[in-house]
Amino acid sequence: MFAVATVKDFLSSFLLLELFKGMKLTGRHFLKPTITVQFPEEKTPLSPRFRGLHALRRYDNGEERCIACKLCEAVCPAMAITIESTERQDANGQTSRRTSRYDIDLTKCIFCGFCEESCPVDSIVETHIFEYHGEKRGDLYFTKDMLLAVGDRYEKDIAANKGADAKYR
Ligand code: SF4
Ligand code: SF4
Repeated sequence: MFAVATVKDFLSSFLLLELFKGMKLTGRHFLKPTITVQFPEEKTPLSPRFRGLHALRRYDNGEERCIACKLCEAVCPAMAITIESTERQDANGQTSRRTSRYDIDLTKCIFCGFCEESCPVDSIVETHIFEYHGEKRGDLYFTKDMLLAVGDRYEKDIAANKGADAKYR
């Protein structure tokens, strides 16, 4: 039995059978259409629920949506959100509670989306942006101004994705 197996191994290696098996597989796929995506020039489609970089949104009149209820801070499992609040006049001249500080430490965030799910006014959202990075400590610590700037810049996309997902909620 041992001798038969040894002879088989010897012949397989001598006749380069493994090599031909590999070449057969390569040949079978050689002329098939390629499925490799040439990132970053090409991108795969993203779900409207994709959870990328965070943003804070405003209403059409420019007023911040956030009412400083702190639900997102409470629900965040990574304790990545820090909020401080104060009273101030809003765009309608009403006294309302607003954040004086809203920070997200993206080095802690696990992109679970709980903050977005918990928000009663669709203020904190996760966008489709995933091409960002930090080069030094603190680059991924996003302050309120930074989050509002992301929201202002990508509001059209954010609203379109919210709209596309609305019928499933
Ligand atoms: S996505 Fe999850 S971990 Fe990240 S800030 Fe929101 S709740 Fe926290
Ligand atoms: S972002 Fe939403 S959940 Fe978080 S404090 Fe503001 S209103 Fe509340």
